[in-house]
Amino acid sequence: MSNRRSRITTDIDFGREGKQTGFLRLPHSVHRSAYGYIAIPVVAIGNGEGPRVLLTAGNHGDEYEGQIVLTKLARSLEVAAVRGSIVILPMMNFPAAQAGMRTSPIDEGNLNRTFPGDPDGRPTAMIAHYVESVLMPEVDAVIDLHSGGSSLIYVPGTLARHSTDRTQLDKVLGLVRAFGAPNSYLMGVGAEDRSILAAAERAGILGLSAELGGAGMVTRETLAITERGVVNALRHLGALEGRPEPRATRLLQVIRASHYVYSPDAGLFEPHAELGDHAKLGQLAGLVHFPDTPWREPAPVHFAGDGLVVCKRVPARVERGDCVYHLASDLAV
Ligand code: CA
Repeated sequence: MSNRRSRITTDIDFGREGKQTGFLRLPHSVHRSAYGYIAIPVVAIGNGEGPRVLLTAGNHGDEYEGQIVLTKLARSLEVAAVRGSIVILPMMNFPAAQAGMRTSPIDEGNLNRTFPGDPDGRPTAMIAHYVESVLMPEVDAVIDLHSGGSSLIYVPGTLARHSTDRTQLDKVLGLVRAFGAPNSYLMGVGAEDRSILAAAERAGILGLSAELGGAGMVTRETLAITERGVVNALRHLGALEGRPEPRATRLLQVIRASHYVYSPDAGLFEPHAELGDHAKLGQLAGLVHFPDTPWREPAPVHFAGDGLVVCKRVPARVERGDCVYHLASDLAV
């Protein structure tokens, strides 16, 4: 990781008491604005000693559950109810969130594949660097809210990293159970190392993510799960007054090799499974049809393992290599 300093500045003093609202200023010198900056909205609430929590959404700009819920919390959280500090970034990759896209239209950057970032890189890399190198060393936990975005829809769940360290795993499971989403997905050890959860692991802080719905929309149900979950998690961490009121959650593990299903060809996908189904190894997952060559036999797609269908592709049009489903299987811990 670079020792160079971030070029992002802010008027927010993260050590100060009370509620502050403002922006992170990311220098962005372009044709139409030589000395301009990208303004990333931030709300910081501080109230005495206590845990320090970073809440983020808009890591992927087309995932709206977290953006809405963190916007609501930014306005509704009262200083007196907070213990320690809560920092809220509802549009973390601001250009992507403003465009309603997974990736930034400025640099094509996928923020959750960019950590630890680069202070001298393109805007997405600068944001990743700021979050990992400037914000994370100042907090005890980060909760980053995702969903399936435009191309996928999930059975709502939190997403966390499995750990071989029992103490660390118990901390993660405590937070996961407090959030109390219907499902709790645990990714295997050695998962993606460019994500915000990997950054949290490097920073030695507690990290929790989520897959709360998707399809480029929100529902009453997914927003309620998200809002209840974040409030419960903050209470569990001790950053917000009140007791958590978690609901039962189903612990599941995701194993990339056997749980992901991909389209083998370009065409139109006819699904043969729906969210919540239990799939078996070798079972037909769907058919790829070729309306441009209608006499051609459709290409079958099969499940590569057993598990619960927790994620499904939204658009019917597929390219070779598109993920059409992923499964998860019950986990005993
Ligand atoms: Ca996402």
